[in-house]
Amino acid sequence: MDRRLSLITPSGHLTLGNLLGALRPMAAGRQDAQNSADCFYGVADLHAMTTPHDPARLRSLSLETATLMLAAGLDHATLFVQSRVAAHAQLAYLLECTASTGELARMIQFKEKGRERPSTRVSLYTYPALMAADILLYRPRQVPVGADQRQHVELARDLAIRFNSTYGPVFTVPEITVPAAGARVMRLDEPTRKMGKSGDGPGVVRLLDPPDVVRRKVARAVTDSDTGPDAVRRDPAKPGVTNLLDILAACGGSADAITTYGALKKAVTDAVVAELEPLQKRYADLSADPTYVTGVYEAGAERCREVAAPVLAAAQAAMGL
Ligand code: AMP
Repeated sequence: MDRRLSLITPSGHLTLGNLLGALRPMAAGRQDAQNSADCFYGVADLHAMTTPHDPARLRSLSLETATLMLAAGLDHATLFVQSRVAAHAQLAYLLECTASTGELARMIQFKEKGRERPSTRVSLYTYPALMAADILLYRPRQVPVGADQRQHVELARDLAIRFNSTYGPVFTVPEITVPAAGARVMRLDEPTRKMGKSGDGPGVVRLLDPPDVVRRKVARAVTDSDTGPDAVRRDPAKPGVTNLLDILAACGGSADAITTYGALKKAVTDAVVAELEPLQKRYADLSADPTYVTGVYEAGAERCREVAAPVLAAAQAAMGL
C-alpha cells in the first residue's frame, strides 16, 4: 500500500482555506478504496519555530491543530506530532551533512521570510533539511505538493539522490505529483491574496469562528460596484465575487437564482456555517476529553517511531555512525 504524508504547521489558527484545500482532501482518501493509502498526518510543531515564537502559544496551537485534524475526520490516518518522533530531527542533521549552504540559500521561502528581518534564526535556513527528513523517513513513492512547497520537495529529492549515490541506497526518491485541484480560498477583504493562517482580521474565516463572526466577516467581504443583471458571476476581473462563488460551491451551496451580492453573501454565510457546524461540534466534544486526543497522537507517534527507526538506522550506518 502506498504511503501518504502531510504535515500542518501550527503557526496560527486554521482557516476555511486549510479545511477546503487540505483537511477535506486528506479526509477524502478514506472513502476512495482504489487509492486507499497508509496515511501519516502530522502537526509540524518544529516547523513553527523558525521565526520568533511564544512557547505557550505554540503549545496551545499544536493541541488546537491536532484536535481539529481529528475533528475533520482524519482518524483513519496515523496522526502524530512531529517533535514526538525524534527521528525527524535526527535525520534532519544527517541531511544537513548532505546539503550545501548554496542550495539552502537559494530557497525562495528563506529569502522571502528572511528579507525583512534584522536577524533570522538558523532554523529558517536549515528548515528544508528537516522537511526532507519528514518526507524521506516514510519512504513515500509520491509526494503531492502545491507550488509554494515544490522547491523544498525538489531539494528533498536531490538530497536523497546524493545520499544514495554517496553512501548507499537508503532512501526512496519520491516523485513529485500535482495534488488533485483543491479549492484555493482567498481573503474576503483582499481577494487576490490567499486566506492564510498567519493572516488575521475580517478577511480570514477561522474554523472555530462562531456563526455570528462568520456572518460579520462574509458581510464585509469585498465585491465590486457592478449592479448589472449578471453581476453575480465568476470572472477574473471580479476576484471578490469569484471567491465567494468558489467558497459557496466548495461548501455545497448553489448560486442558481442569486442575482444580488446581498443574497450571495447570505448564501455563503449559510453554507460556511453549515460546513463548520459539525466540525465545531466534534471539536467541542474532543476538547472535553483532551486525554483522548493526546492518546490518539501518542499511539500515532509510536507507530511513526517504528516505521522511521529502520530508515534512520540505515542512514546512520551508511554514514559511518
Ligand atoms: P499553510 O496554512 O499555508 O501552512 O498550509 C497548510 C495546508 O493548507 C496546505 O496543504 C495548503 O495548501 C492548504 N491551504 C492553506 N491555505 C489555503 C487556502 N487559502 N486555500 C486552499 N488551501 C490552503
